[in-house]
Amino acid sequence: MQTNPLYLTDPYQTEMDATVIEVLEDRVILDQTVFYPMGGGQPTDQGFLIFSDGTKGEVFQVLLKEGEINHYLKGARIPSAGEKVKGVINWERRFKNMRVHSAGHVIDFALFVLGYSPSLLHPMKADHGKKPFIVYSGTLDKDIKLELQAKVDEFIQKNMKFSWTFEPLEQLEKEALYLQPGLPKNKPLRALRLEGVGAVADGGTIVGTTGEIGPITISSIETKDGQTFIHYFVVA
Ligand SMILES: [Zn+2]
Repeated sequence: MQTNPLYLTDPYQTEMDATVIEVLEDRVILDQTVFYPMGGGQPTDQGFLIFSDGTKGEVFQVLLKEGEINHYLKGARIPSAGEKVKGVINWERRFKNMRVHSAGHVIDFALFVLGYSPSLLHPMKADHGKKPFIVYSGTLDKDIKLELQAKVDEFIQKNMKFSWTFEPLEQLEKEALYLQPGLPKNKPLRALRLEGVGAVADGGTIVGTTGEIGPITISSIETKDGQTFIHYFVVA
């Protein structure tokens, strides 16, 4: 990847100065960015780029394509390679996405502490969009909704710290609670930790402490075709 993904190190950074390194029709690749590209179940960041002549372009979508972070632009003009730009994200949108995504991890860490994950329920994927849910392979023969809700409430109430470091896969294999298949071996991965619980590999944007998420409601736990779907929401 040609772009330094600033959102992985500091998810609270809302602006950056950058240089355009590649221009493709309706999109640009920058040397660094605060824009989170849609992925891992988390929606795209939006915002705008301010060009060297003071004009503005709306960034309506950011996508990872062939390993590169593409900023799709609307309006104004497309800047040229080598041009200096300033980028600003829509923070309200990002912070909501960050809270929803972090909530998914709180539920996942709670399932681990309760002893249901990763052996009985194995984490598969998640969607942190408008109707968020996380999916596990495996099912349970009892209803854990109340038990899970109580553990999640406890984690939020304790205002536990999230932290992260960058580590090679071999290091993460030793300490992660579980690892999803297909993680790259050739670059450092981000280990996401919840204070006192453990680490997982994760590339999304995360809040500093669980209290920032506010209340999480487990709305339903459904099983289908050997999988368990946990639906949840946070306060808007
Ligand atoms: Zn995640």
